[in-house]
Amino acid sequence: MSALPVAVVCAGCGAAAPEGDPLPVRCRHARPGDDIDHVMTVVLDPARLRFPGEAAANPFVRYRTLSYGYHLGRSRGLDDGAYVGLVRRLDRAIAGVDGRGFVVTPFGRQAALSDRLGFAADGGVWVKDETGNVSGSHKARHLMGLLVHLEVVAGVGGAPAVGELAIASCGNAALAAAVVARAGGRSLRVFVPTWAERPVVERLERLGARLEVCARDDGVPGDPTYHALRRALERGAFPFTCQGPDNGLTIEGGKTLGYEIVSDLRAAQGRLDRVMVQVGGGALASACVQAFEDAVRLGALARLPRLHAVQTAGGYPLKRAYDLVAGHAVARLVGDATAARAGANLAPRDLADRLAAPDARAAVEAALRHAATHRSAFMWPWEQEPRSVAHGILDDETYDWLAVTRGMLNSGGWPVVVDEPTLHEANELGRTATGIDADHTGTAGLAGLLALVRAGTVARDERVAVLFTGVRR
Ligand SMILES: [Zn+2]
Repeated sequence: MSALPVAVVCAGCGAAAPEGDPLPVRCRHARPGDDIDHVMTVVLDPARLRFPGEAAANPFVRYRTLSYGYHLGRSRGLDDGAYVGLVRRLDRAIAGVDGRGFVVTPFGRQAALSDRLGFAADGGVWVKDETGNVSGSHKARHLMGLLVHLEVVAGVGGAPAVGELAIASCGNAALAAAVVARAGGRSLRVFVPTWAERPVVERLERLGARLEVCARDDGVPGDPTYHALRRALERGAFPFTCQGPDNGLTIEGGKTLGYEIVSDLRAAQGRLDRVMVQVGGGALASACVQAFEDAVRLGALARLPRLHAVQTAGGYPLKRAYDLVAGHAVARLVGDATAARAGANLAPRDLADRLAAPDARAAVEAALRHAATHRSAFMWPWEQEPRSVAHGILDDETYDWLAVTRGMLNSGGWPVVVDEPTLHEANELGRTATGIDADHTGTAGLAGLLALVRAGTVARDERVAVLFTGVRR
C-alpha cells in the first residue's frame, strides 16, 4: 500500500510518479513523438479519505485533505495547523494585491432565468458565480493551487529550486497568474499575442509580470504564445499554467469549484442532472468532472451529472475529438465499421446514452485507451485561427481533451457547439435575468443550455448547473 492516500498517475501511459515526488507536474516517461497523451493526474484513495464536511470559507482550507500537496507536506512533518496557516498567509497576501482573497463562491437556483427558459418549479438553472472570485474569474483557483503546492514544497525541502514561473495567455489566466505570483513574491513571464488588449497588458505590467509578445506565423499551426511557453519550459521555467499536460497539478485548484458544488448539493440534499462547461483549453471542465468523480468515489455524490462541454462554431477541436472517440467505441461495441457509421448517425443524446450504459463500459474504455496512445489522430490544432465573441475559449487545441471526453462519455453527456447569435443572446439573457455581470466567455455555458433547450433535449423538471466564469471588463 502507498504511504500517501493520494497518488499522482499519468492518465496517458499509466506510470505513477515516484512516492513522495515533490513536483510531479509532467510525466517523466514522455518522449518527443511518442503520441501518448501524458497528463499527470491526482488519484484519491477512497479507503483512506472522506469528502470534507467542514465549513471553512476558504476552499483551499476546506478541501485541503483532497490535495496531493497536503499529504506530501504531512508526510514531511508539516502538521495540519501549519498547512492551514500557510494557506491563510498566502490568502492574505492575495487580498493585499487584489483586494479580495478566496471564499467559496455563490451557487444557487436563478428563478428568473429558470422561468425564462421554461423550467418547472422542481427544475431550473443553478448558476455558479465566479465573477467575484480573485482577479474576476475561476482561473485564480488553478494558480492558487499551484502556489500553495510550491510553498509547501519550499517549506519541507528536498525539491530542486523553482525559478521563474511562466504562462501563455492574454486574458483571465494571465491576470490571475500575475496576481497569485505577485502575492507569492515570485517572478512571472507571460507570453501574450499581438492582439492582447491594452488594459490587460497594462494591468499585467503593473503587477510586475514580464511580458513577451508573440506573433502568429502563418506557416505554423497552433497558438504562437503556447509554442513560446513550451520553449521557455524547455529552458527551465516552471509551468504556472492552466493546462494539465504541462502541469497536472493545476487541475487540483480548479477542482475546488466542483467540490463547492458538491458541498452545496449535499447540504440541500439536492440533485444535479447536467452541468454545462465552456471549454477552451479544457482545464476547467477537466477539473469539474474530476471533482464530481472524486465525490462519487468518496460516496458524497450518488452519480455524475451529464457533462456538456460547450465550444463555439469558430473552433471546436474537442467536439471533433469526442466524435472520433465515440466512433471508435461504437465500432468496438458492435464489431464492425458499417455499424459504427450508423452509430455516428444517432442523435447526440441517443449516442451518449448508449455509450454511458454499463454494457458499453469495456468498449468505451478501450476506445479511450486507444485515443490516449494515438493522440495526433484525435486532437490537433484547429486549422484556421478561431474567432468568436467568446474569446476566452478560442484555444487552437483542447489541451485537457482526454479527461473531458472521458467525463462526457462516462456521464452520458456530449459536446455542444454554439453559434455567435446564441452566444450574444445568452450573455444578454444571463446578465439581465441574474444581475451577474459576466462576459461572453463567462456565459458561454448558458449558450450551450439555450441550444439544448431549443432542441427539446432538456426536461422541464431537470436541474442544470452553469458556470459564470469571468466578469465583464
Ligand atoms: Zn505518461
